[in-house]
This record gives sequence, structure tokens and C-alpha cells, in this order.
Amino acid sequence: MNEPLPVSRVADEVIRAVLQTPVIDMHTHIYSTSFGTPVANAAGPADPGGLLLWGIDEMLTYHYLVAEAFRVRPADEMPYETFWRLSKQDQADHVWRCLFVERTPVSEAAKGLLTTLQALGLELPVSGLSGLRRWFAEQDPDDYIDRVMEVANIDKMTMTNAVFDDAERARWDAGITPDSRFDAVLRIDPVLRDWPAAAAAMRGMGYGVADDLSGGSVSEGRRFLLDWAGRMKAVYLAASLPPSFAFTDGGPGRPLGEQAFARIVLPACRDLGVPFAMMIGARRAANPALGDAGDMTGRADIEAVTNICAAFPGNRFFVTMLSRENQHELCVAARKFGNLMIFGCWWFLNNPSLVEEITRMRVELLGTTFIPQHADARVLDQMIYKWRHSRPIIARVLAAKYEDLVGTGWPVTPKTIERDVRLLLRDNYLNFIAPR
Ligand SMILES: [Zn+2]
Repeated sequence: MNEPLPVSRVADEVIRAVLQTPVIDMHTHIYSTSFGTPVANAAGPADPGGLLLWGIDEMLTYHYLVAEAFRVRPADEMPYETFWRLSKQDQADHVWRCLFVERTPVSEAAKGLLTTLQALGLELPVSGLSGLRRWFAEQDPDDYIDRVMEVANIDKMTMTNAVFDDAERARWDAGITPDSRFDAVLRIDPVLRDWPAAAAAMRGMGYGVADDLSGGSVSEGRRFLLDWAGRMKAVYLAASLPPSFAFTDGGPGRPLGEQAFARIVLPACRDLGVPFAMMIGARRAANPALGDAGDMTGRADIEAVTNICAAFPGNRFFVTMLSRENQHELCVAARKFGNLMIFGCWWFLNNPSLVEEITRMRVELLGTTFIPQHADARVLDQMIYKWRHSRPIIARVLAAKYEDLVGTGWPVTPKTIERDVRLLLRDNYLNFIAPR
């Protein structure tokens, strides 16, 4: 069964391969059950500070939907403070009323909730949320993770493990049971964004780093990263960076975060043999009253990326950018640097029209040498819709390209398609975190 395909069969073969290939999701904010869950369930009571979010109320109060609810009922009708004071369940009811009762849920995030419920075989809650709440309360989160991964066809996913978050670190200190469904990612934003704050936190953990990077700061900073990366078995290190993120050479006189990046973070990544991931372009708190929903996108300077890739050929970099306007130059940058792997359609770009545009551009400029998507889900159930919505788009883009190839006489076989799809959905990532 490896004959060249006639053009009429290409699309079917591509969709089959894209739907059947299990994904390895390289960036999510989902946690294993060891980190606790604030959702009461069949296996136990709510753990209020728990990090694993799932279920109907977490889905409805996710910041994408909260932002949309405040468009239907702006702050003069529902003051921000009033909304944040509501219980989780009352917040969910409010969002439900705004977006699903008073309006039609055509936005990507609202439709995503419906896709998720449908894929789980649940009734759409046209008459209210109580039935769904009962169903979720009967789930055991450990089994439910399996169920979601099966429905979304995901093999493995990464967590995002913020070592400078006291609440998360306390969970590590209390002891985490390894879970083969998850890999850890060591997230270190303050090192790059606010060196003095990072230094103070590291000192509090017993590492001899100084606010001005003097003395033993470099070796102690590296020791901190190596210790935590080892403890978490992190597959890569990562930071989310603002649109203003800049990098020239990391030399003396440059901002401390830039120097720490060059002298501490990247050498530690080389020692560990792992990539560094940069997610560039989130401008925090454009509307602080909206909380997590108040962040904005901004166009960044690609020169930071090209300077870094050029200055550190011994390091590997995952990069995604939040602004649509940065996507073309990021593709071009990836043509120049083999140590740059671009990934995903992040956050405000994770909409069908933009995923399609960006994926097509990436195939045209980079062939199959990129990672088309990551879920970036913060609520477990969202893994389902993120992948259910993305897979057909990725398939559509690929199918059109293969059909063009068949037109040139090039033999496109089911095996070729399968290999390429595996590269895009898993092998490019695996090869980049652990090169042969
Ligand atoms: Zn994220």
C-alpha cells in the first residue's frame, strides 16, 4: 500500500494521517494530579491551591471567555470587583448567560467549549449547567486525564513549571510523583524580565547571587538552574517575554536580564543539552482590572531573535511570537538559523483563519521543519477543542501542497504523508529536544 496516490485521494489520506497521528503537545499549562486540583471530584475533595484545572466551571471562567463576557456586559454593568468576588460557580453562570444564552457562541473560544462537550459525548447544556456539574463531579481526575488524551489523540504533553512561583515550588517541595503522561518545562521568566527579583528569590533558596550579577552570581545562578532542571527532569527551559524584548550581545553594560540570559541561562541549557523556549509578544496587564484576561499582544523586534540565534550557535531555541505581524519575519529568520525551531499559533493567533494562514506560510517557507501547533491550554478539557479545531486546518494546508506536488509528477505516497505528519505533530519536537 505504498503506491503513489492519484490527486483525488490525497486529501482523504492526509486527513486520515493527521487525525490518527498522536500528538506530543510541547506547550500546555496542564498539570499532573500530583499538583492537586481545586475541583472536587470522585477521588477526593477540592484542594483549593491545586494547579490542575478541569471541568465545566474552569472552562467557563477561563480568561478567554471572561474577556468576551465583559464585552457583552461591560464594567459599568458588571463591575470587575463584583465579578471577581463571585464564587467560581457564579462566575461561570454569569459567563454562560452572557455568551451562550444572551448571545450565540460563534467566537473560537466559545465554540471550543461546545466542541469539547460534544467530543466527550455530553449533552449541550441548553437548560443550564447543573447536569454537567454533576457529571464532572463524578470523574476521577487521573482517569479523566486519560480520557481527554484519548479523545484528543495526545501521547504526551508538557507542563509549564514556574520555579519562581512560591505556590508551585511548594508542591515540588512536598514531593511530586512522576507521571509518564507529562514532561516538565522549567519556566524562568523573572531571570530575564526582572533580574533583581529573581536574584532575591534565589538567595531565599540558598543560592549566592547578587542583584548586580557580581561575585559568584553566574556560577550560583547556573547551579540553581541545573538543580531545578534536574529535579524536574525538565525537557527544556522557557520564558514568556514582552514585545519590547531586546538582545544585542549580552555584554557588560547591557541590561542585567540580558546579561543573565547570556551568562547564566544559555550556558546552563548547553550543560543540560536542552533548548530554550522564547514566547515573545505578550504585553501584560493592558487592562489590569481584567486579571489574566487583561493581557494584550504587541509587535516585537525580530532582531532580538536573530541576534540570539547568531550569537549562540551551540544553543537551540524554540520560538513563538504573539503578533500576527511578526509571523513572516519569524519564518524568514528560521530559514537562516538551524538552531531556531518555530512553534505553534499562540493565544490570540489560535483562531482558524490565522492558523490556516500561518501554517500555509510556514510550509511554503520552511517545508516540514517547524511545529505547527501547541494547545497552550490551562484547563485540561480545552486540549480537546484545541486539537480538534487545529487538525483539520493543518490537514487542509498539507493536502493542497501535496496536490500541487502530484501535479508536477512527484510521487506522493501514504508513507510520505505519514512521515511528514509525524514530523509536524511529534518528531520535529522530539528531535529538537534530544538531537541524535
Ligand atoms: Zn502558555
